[in-house]
Amino acid sequence: MRVSQLLAPTLREDPAEAEVVSHRLMLRAGFIRKAAAGVYTYLPLGYRVLQKIMNIIREEMNKAGGQELLLPIIQPAELWQQTGRWDVYGEEMFRLNDRHGRAFCLGPTHEEIITDLVKNEINSYKQLPLLLYQIQNKYRDEKRPRFGLMRGREFIMKDLYSFDKDEEGMKISYQKMYDAYSNVFRRCGLEFRAVEADPGAIGGGTSHEFMVLADSGEAVVVYCEKCDYAANREKACAKPDIYEKEEMQPLELVHTPEVRTIEEVAGFLQLSPKRLIKTLFYEADDRLICALIRGDREINEIKLKNTVGCLHLKLAADERVAAVVGAETGFVGPVGLEGIDIYADPEVAEMSNAVAGANKNGYHYLNVNPGRDFKVDMVVDLRLVQEGDSCPGCGTPLHATKGIEVGQVFQLGTKYSEAIGAKYHDEHGEERLMVMGCYGIGVSRTMAAAIEQNHDKDGIIWPVAIAPFHVVVIPVSTKEEEQVQVAEQLYQELLDAGIEVVIDDRADRAGVKFKDADLIGYPLRLTVGKRTIEEGTVDIKVRRTGEEMAVPVARVT
Ligand code: ATP
Ligand code: MG
Ligand code: MG
Ligand code: MG
Repeated sequence: MRVSQLLAPTLREDPAEAEVVSHRLMLRAGFIRKAAAGVYTYLPLGYRVLQKIMNIIREEMNKAGGQELLLPIIQPAELWQQTGRWDVYGEEMFRLNDRHGRAFCLGPTHEEIITDLVKNEINSYKQLPLLLYQIQNKYRDEKRPRFGLMRGREFIMKDLYSFDKDEEGMKISYQKMYDAYSNVFRRCGLEFRAVEADPGAIGGGTSHEFMVLADSGEAVVVYCEKCDYAANREKACAKPDIYEKEEMQPLELVHTPEVRTIEEVAGFLQLSPKRLIKTLFYEADDRLICALIRGDREINEIKLKNTVGCLHLKLAADERVAAVVGAETGFVGPVGLEGIDIYADPEVAEMSNAVAGANKNGYHYLNVNPGRDFKVDMVVDLRLVQEGDSCPGCGTPLHATKGIEVGQVFQLGTKYSEAIGAKYHDEHGEERLMVMGCYGIGVSRTMAAAIEQNHDKDGIIWPVAIAPFHVVVIPVSTKEEEQVQVAEQLYQELLDAGIEVVIDDRADRAGVKFKDADLIGYPLRLTVGKRTIEEGTVDIKVRRTGEEMAVPVARVT
């Protein structure tokens, strides 16, 4: 490839909208461009990286017995209604109607559609186990699309679904995928950790997340160095035991400290403790106080009937975020507190500037005064598991670190096969439900995570396995015919040898080309300059280590 022809529009300046390194560098190095919030175009270099990641994934999925297919993005509402997820998925689902008024969604995940397929096509135990996967765009109308490819609204996912005869078979399939995932991330050159996870909206039982360790991660992972224990902090139990009264004083909440454990609070709210923890910690970072509120309250014509709520305040930084939980509906909405600017997200803030409150996604209650607007029944101080807490496995102090969730595996059991009716005939001719698992990798997020872990002040440092090209050949001066000739010859020889190489044949100054080469992150840079002509050597620079060496031209290939 010739850089003069390559669509890789590099930027000198940091784009203002990019908060994290991967987003910034992908924009600057000309890998992606934004089309809308959370929707991106992958430019040629970016797409090459994605292809590499996808190929690694394909190889590992095929090795584990997976078969690739392609499911539709547009999915009929009926299947989702059968499993009850049409309602559960809420505003994160992109919905649309066709010209006849039939309801569809853009697939945020594909359990329904694939279970329906397998239900129709498979009927005997002889056809199981079956591992089917696809690599495709997914659509989720994320509340806060951000960090570039990290949290998109359109993003690429590899999703595999396993169908087995029984629990035992499902566990074997699960282990195969767990191993395959470890291989994928190792081969991508990433430092990662598999952690116990909460299955969340997907449902089912056992689940693990694969976390790439990086400071920009949105998840917190706690792990023990002594035993194997490692968990997403959402899954690790919260500690309700510290109760510091002082911290509540400035907020003037009325508190009745008699009920304090998560179980008790959950019982009061008629939520499962798990759900409560998830709700509470949804936006919070470190520790929080929650207060239960009760009473009818009308705000902007929306009546929160018998709201038994839960108010949680983020104490980390200066930002205080609160939420109401509807007792009957389980509705969770954000709440603002008097005199406090609570918006982390400028888009949301703008939207709800003049709004006194509404229970719509993205809207906040302003000027809510607990005690005045809500009767506060009790206040609970909760703390998330953190660095130094003792390991539930062996008691050793735990470590906490930030992680980017690049993949998750789930043992689903019969949740979907039952709802959709996916059955097979066993050895005795009896009908039984298939036992399922599902397994996702965020392909585009993995690309971002790789950059979060591999960069320096000059740009990206691609792990070789997923680099867009391996080598860049740079003639220092395109005005010097001899240099151009040697560079072109070198380029041709490398191409012939099957090396993924580009030549920077632009008429720009050498400095510009060096800067771009560092920014884009080619693992090796070959410079053809004066010295090449005089001494017959090429300067080779290793991007990762910065090592430079002069190598005779003839020995390069
Ligand atoms: P998150 O907790 O970050 O919202 P999730 O748990 O909702 O992710 P899954 O349903 O487990 O996501 O989907 C499988 C994988 O898809 C995730 O592990 C992640 O790598 C990727 N993924 C999920 N949501 C997004 C997104 N909005 N943008 C990019 N990748 C995503
Ligand atoms: Mg999500
Ligand atoms: Mg998650
Ligand atoms: Mg997940």
